[in-house]
Amino acid sequence: MWEGWSLSMTDDELLRRARRLLSESESPAAFTGAGMSKECGIRTFRGEEGFWREYRAEDLATPGALRKNPRLVWEWYRERLVRYGEVEPHEGYHALVEAERRLGSLPVITQNVDGLHHRAGSSEVVELHGTLRTVSCMEEPGRTYPLEPELLEELPPRCECGAVLRPDVVLFGEPLPVEAISRAIDLADSCDLMLVVGTSMVVFPAASIPYRTLSRGGHVLEINPEATPLSGEPGVLHVSGGAAETLPLLLEGW
Ligand code: NAD
Repeated sequence: MWEGWSLSMTDDELLRRARRLLSESESPAAFTGAGMSKECGIRTFRGEEGFWREYRAEDLATPGALRKNPRLVWEWYRERLVRYGEVEPHEGYHALVEAERRLGSLPVITQNVDGLHHRAGSSEVVELHGTLRTVSCMEEPGRTYPLEPELLEELPPRCECGAVLRPDVVLFGEPLPVEAISRAIDLADSCDLMLVVGTSMVVFPAASIPYRTLSRGGHVLEINPEATPLSGEPGVLHVSGGAAETLPLLLEGW
């Protein structure tokens, strides 16, 4: 019988149960957020490091801010990009790839735009919030370029036509890419286990994905040092810990 809430279990019991959930899963999927990349040195949007200068991400990463002050918005992205280029996926990313090998399949739905799941070698990565690997013309959205460092020598970067280029990420207030959200919904509805790592579960509609799995009778295994609105839901096993250390622990003994 599924116990749901985890407070009464010791850490060892929790880990044993978490390993069993993962190793016995027949159709697992993963759902990751900014906390997945934190131990690579990439800031999350919330928590103690959530501000850049005096700005909140929610005020900068918007279509309005990009139109009004593209230079400021691009300064913010440029700083993040420099960091993305310097970091490597940590052990937690490699553990997801190893879990995929053992289980036969482990598609990753991510809210992150840093490309680290691709770099670690996960076979299927659904990028719900787009990517920072490419940029597009704001006047002619079909004109897309790889985001090379030279493009950012002068800010804001510009298309050959002279218009400002935008990052190919989903800005706050924009809809999610149709193909990505529809694949994420398929996975959420068909998986028997959703491994949820490093997301505060407050950015919607992305955060609705694990709830779909729960509503279909699937389980959720959540890895996060903090409790989230999802943690106390029936069917959720919350393991408190960081992604880099905890994900490899899930692979021990099977
Ligand atoms: P968030 O910033 O709202 O929350 C981060 C979560 O990670 C928190 O719940 C925190 O407790 C947890 N966390 C902190 N350290 C952790 C660790 N070591 N291991 C596991 N979890 C840890 O992030 P969110 O829910 O993903 O929402 C923010 C939005 O910002 C997303 O839409 C995402 O697109 C975007 N974002 C992306 C990146 C990136 O691409 N790396 C970085 C920041 C924000």
